[in-house]
Amino acid sequence: MKTIIRNAHIVNEGCMQIADLLMVCDRIEKIAPFISLPQPQKYMEINAEGKCLFPGVIDSHVHFREPGLTHKGDLSSESKAAVAGGVTSFMDMPNTYPNTLTQNLLEEKYSLAQQKSLANYSFFMGVNKTNLEEALKTDPETVCGITDDGLYFNDQEGILASHPEFLEHLFNRTQTLVALHSENDGIIRANYLKYYEQYGEDIPVNLHPLIRSEEACLSATQNLINLAKRHQNRLHILHISTQAEAELFDALHPPREKRITGEVCGHHLWFSDKDYDHLGNKIKWNPAIKNENDKNGLLTALLESRIDSVASDHAPHAAKEKTGSYKKALPGGPMVQHTLYLMMELYHKGLLTLEKIAEKMSHNVADIYRIRERGYIREGYHADLVLIDLYRPWQVTPNNLFYKCGWSPLSGERFTSTIMQTFVNGNLVFDRGKIANSAKGKRLLFEKIG
Ligand SMILES: [Zn+2]
Repeated sequence: MKTIIRNAHIVNEGCMQIADLLMVCDRIEKIAPFISLPQPQKYMEINAEGKCLFPGVIDSHVHFREPGLTHKGDLSSESKAAVAGGVTSFMDMPNTYPNTLTQNLLEEKYSLAQQKSLANYSFFMGVNKTNLEEALKTDPETVCGITDDGLYFNDQEGILASHPEFLEHLFNRTQTLVALHSENDGIIRANYLKYYEQYGEDIPVNLHPLIRSEEACLSATQNLINLAKRHQNRLHILHISTQAEAELFDALHPPREKRITGEVCGHHLWFSDKDYDHLGNKIKWNPAIKNENDKNGLLTALLESRIDSVASDHAPHAAKEKTGSYKKALPGGPMVQHTLYLMMELYHKGLLTLEKIAEKMSHNVADIYRIRERGYIREGYHADLVLIDLYRPWQVTPNNLFYKCGWSPLSGERFTSTIMQTFVNGNLVFDRGKIANSAKGKRLLFEKIG
């Protein structure tokens, strides 16, 4: 299969150039101002005049819910939502059911994805206090990393940020990337009890950022950074939600050379505590959406390269699981289809350049995780690409969601740009609003450490 994209504004590695791009099989064969073809009829030709071609988004934080929680989402449905949102590769978290705590369970997820996923994939190995030896068997060249993300739901003691003695053991024995959810659950519990005494189970949801407070985030992140520095470990802190935490990170090295990197999620750059009044539990996330200062401070930290990457933390729940009292409504929401759109809107508001979007959602993610031959538009690299019409407005409605759960906290939102086409390994998988192809994605591979 051969495809040529003509006259695209190619957004890549800090600049934009108008060029043709030729894909042959799964690779980018050539990029040049004009590519002449000996037998043009043998190629699919796309006129991309006036449109922007980005490297496919690599979303390093999703919960696609398979196996075990497929009433919320599955690898087929959520990977469709991913490619509709310009995401060509994803990394999935271990709080599926059963939790991904053995190498066998981990490999089972890879087999499922091979059969079902339209996007490229990697799966994190889960780690908790019971499976250290098993987690240490993880192969860093075929698995993106080790994490505790989401595992605290099943075990009060699960969040590793509150167990420095365990982390000492883990950090002592691995150079593999460890990605951690960073909140202090002791502080959260005390805050919760204080408001529970006042309100019972019907705590107003706008108190969520005071329960899962700045202090809870800051103290955990401070401790994790100190610990990783002592051990010279490869630590990636997930979904940073406060300005105070962002200030703990430095911009002294490019992401590839940093030992400690940080991620921010689209929703923490988009919503603030003002939105609880009209969206309620729909924007209940862990860590919580904080205030305007935090939202602005996170964007500043991203632009100053203290925070390195943007992810979705796509975590769908059935609509009914998001209703009821504050205590009952589950944290998390579906975001993978719209996180690139949120960043594009920040571009239209003059807050972010197109080049920065490619850097934070593709290049840096490839560098942080040392992904092989993806994340950049380069000859010889895999052809993972997204073609965007900057000025083609549309509105989020239940009809244009690909999520199995069928709802979005962004319903009704109007976006200025439209994702026209998404290519995964040279296959046109998403084309003007529809899934175009059932070709499956590939397993991500990683460079050797050191
Ligand atoms: Zn998560």
